[in-house]
Amino acid sequence: MRVMFVAAEVAPFATAGGLGEVVGSLPKALAELGVEVAVFAPRYARVSPDLPTVTAFSLEFAGGTKEVRLLRSFLPKSHVPVYFLDFPPYYERPGIYGEGDRDYPDNLQRFAFLSKAAVMACTELSWVPEVFHVHDWHTALLPLYLRAEGMGAKTVLTIHNLAFQGWFPRDMWEGIGLSKEDLKLAGEGEWLCALRAGILAVDAITTVSPTYAREILADGLGLDDVLRSRAQELFGILNGIDEEEWDPAQDAHLWARYSSEDLRGKAFNRRRLIQELGLCGAGPIVAMVGRLTEQKGFDLLLASLDRIMAMGVNLVVLGTGESRYEDFFKDAEKRFPGRVRALLTFSAEWAHRILAGADFLLMPSRFEPCGLTQLYALRYGTIPIVRATGGLRDTVQDVDQGGNGFVFEEYTPEAMLEALGRAVRLWQKDRRKILALRRMGMSGDYSWKRAAQKYREVYERVLSR
Ligand code: ADP
Repeated sequence: MRVMFVAAEVAPFATAGGLGEVVGSLPKALAELGVEVAVFAPRYARVSPDLPTVTAFSLEFAGGTKEVRLLRSFLPKSHVPVYFLDFPPYYERPGIYGEGDRDYPDNLQRFAFLSKAAVMACTELSWVPEVFHVHDWHTALLPLYLRAEGMGAKTVLTIHNLAFQGWFPRDMWEGIGLSKEDLKLAGEGEWLCALRAGILAVDAITTVSPTYAREILADGLGLDDVLRSRAQELFGILNGIDEEEWDPAQDAHLWARYSSEDLRGKAFNRRRLIQELGLCGAGPIVAMVGRLTEQKGFDLLLASLDRIMAMGVNLVVLGTGESRYEDFFKDAEKRFPGRVRALLTFSAEWAHRILAGADFLLMPSRFEPCGLTQLYALRYGTIPIVRATGGLRDTVQDVDQGGNGFVFEEYTPEAMLEALGRAVRLWQKDRRKILALRRMGMSGDYSWKRAAQKYREVYERVLSR
């Protein structure tokens, strides 16, 4: 079986979140199951232009002939090739999707071009996949280009986050080489939606957790009709994590390494974290890691910070995003010196150190398709406190039901404070139970192998038709 992943992000080369992590990991797990797999992504400025060129060709797009090169690398510690589409006018930029709060205005062209080039490249590479696996709205138009080229490959679309749908005004769609019939799939109004077209055109759809699959059928964020029309072909498959990258026993970012048998290294990381960040250290360390957006539930923090601090916790935030949240945490640092630290940067090193050194991870997401950070936390013996939504519901169960963390249902500060309060009290009163919880988290199966088997079943299903 030959499968080509086509995506806007691929870790570790260029990633902005969960999508990139999946595209950087799942292909390796599929390869281990014997699937022949490759990845196709743009060469952004952050990817070396000095990688070997495997081919160069030209294609028609946006009313002109575009000359492109394909550079090749491999996913780390694997034989999975990654083909980088080199076309500087579209991709030689500092950002993936934009800079600051602004998206690049030509994102439709940039990613439609990626999709079309991926189809054309297969002939150039003499490697025609049986399945194109596309991701989010960026590559959701690929099945339309495939049809236009008369190629018979099957297509699978993974929705990593339904909130990003790729809406653009109609005039922008002219010149990206799609027929009037095809455009109809993207909608009828003045604004057209790339994800909508993809949902209708692909052979199967997956999303990144079983609960999120149910949630988007219940509320399709404006795409309800098309999602429901494909309900029989929609599958929820929980993401795995890169177990080599996220392994406390061999993590080079940490100050000390550790395992579930011997957690002394975790205690050492905790002490170093306190030192490095200048925390007071009394009370548990509660961490938050992720994009500072509404999705992640930061409004609940804004509404309850004083009450959280009154519980005697140390709060560490690592993230970048909306300026209202960045400003809030900058201010909180001043108001609670030694109690609140906000690292407003993107740093893999700090993500690892914080997830190793903290006692709890707080993820009060408003919605969460899968969520990876809670899985990293579990693996690092850091107990998650989460709202029961999407993949958080599928991966964290409440300690009162014999589970591995603390869970609350309602999206309210009070519900969050109740769960946080239970966590803090347990930390103060019952270290043995806390240790047992850490170990329970560390012993879970978060491997990509499990997910890869399910994806292979989806590929087999579409190929059998
Ligand atoms: P999403 O895809 O919605 O951003 P996920 O939890 O699925 O959320 O994945 C986010 C990934 O990005 C995680 O690996 C997380 O550790 C990482 N990440 C997010 N923000 C930062 C940051 N500021 N520094 C380092 N890693 C980050």
